[in-house]
Amino acid sequence: MTETAPLKRADFRPSSLDKLSECSWFASTSGGNEAAARGDAIDLAFRSHSLTYPRSAEPFCLADEDKPAVEWAVEQTRRLAGEAIAVTAKQLCKVDVPNFEKPGEVDALVADKYMHLDLKSGQKRSYRLQQAAYALGLMDRYFTDYWTVFLLYCDQRETQRLTFTYEEAKGLIEQARVEYDHPQKPTVNEFCSWCANFERCPTQRELAGSALAVSEAAIDFDPVLADPQKLGRFLDGCKAIEEFQERAKKHAKAEMLEGRIGAEGWKLVNKKGAKFVDVQEVLTHLSTAAIAQSVKTLSRDKYEAACAFDGTEPRPDLIKQTGGSVYLIQTKAKKPTNNEQALGARTKTDQPASD
Ligand code: SF4
Repeated sequence: MTETAPLKRADFRPSSLDKLSECSWFASTSGGNEAAARGDAIDLAFRSHSLTYPRSAEPFCLADEDKPAVEWAVEQTRRLAGEAIAVTAKQLCKVDVPNFEKPGEVDALVADKYMHLDLKSGQKRSYRLQQAAYALGLMDRYFTDYWTVFLLYCDQRETQRLTFTYEEAKGLIEQARVEYDHPQKPTVNEFCSWCANFERCPTQRELAGSALAVSEAAIDFDPVLADPQKLGRFLDGCKAIEEFQERAKKHAKAEMLEGRIGAEGWKLVNKKGAKFVDVQEVLTHLSTAAIAQSVKTLSRDKYEAACAFDGTEPRPDLIKQTGGSVYLIQTKAKKPTNNEQALGARTKTDQPASD
């Protein structure tokens, strides 16, 4: 393998813990990504719309289709807080956690109930270590040894309750610190495509190389199909190649748009965008009955946005689901346990985003 730049590592901070537990070498891409920007806008809107103490004055730009999700989260916060005060101001929601250099930040704090809430957009996944860190800091602040967390998955409209004793949260964070201080070999996981190390990650390079080696010997493909272990490894490699391919295409396209060659044997082609009509304009010459006749369904998001516009609650009995489909996803890879596999690369830490 060719010599590459050293890998970066995420700082040891609450919001990185769950990703670092999957791979010691995870590092966030600088500037975040689209999903992170959407999460920040939802977070600010939630703070601003929570009619709690004190009102946030921070500006935010929330897409119309995300408004129902924020309204749901505000409603859940009120319901879970009950008579108690839910504090959402950023400054008051900062949490100092023992052994962390910088404070973290929860989305809503209900101190009277020894509880905090954290709003999550996007896919559901584990946030246990992040929440254990916040719980630990808050238990220290309020001199208690038991804490409750509610995660509000606003896209799924689901809540998840986590509880921690002081000892449990402390144990989880101490273990996370030990693992951070003794990094293992990079381990493939669901966060790889967001990792700043992807292109120079030795594990991803090995995987891509092994898939290419098998493809070249395509005549021996049957043994790969017949062996679940080989097939799994082959698919891991293909996944790595797909990600490299996307990045290579993006790079070539950017070069070509600048007037350079980009990639030999490739060229840019224009694809026209989909045609559409503006509903408000159509209503000037068609009846609503005619439109309803041709538009048979609305997406759930559009339905909820329409309800929010009309100031009415969405009716769950009207929301239906299509049959779905079966597809493959990569499960968590087995972590190496041998300390000898610890990577000898030099490290440098990346700049933390706010927690
Ligand atoms: S790309 Fe490599 S370093 Fe980054 S999370 Fe995946 S395995 Fe770890």
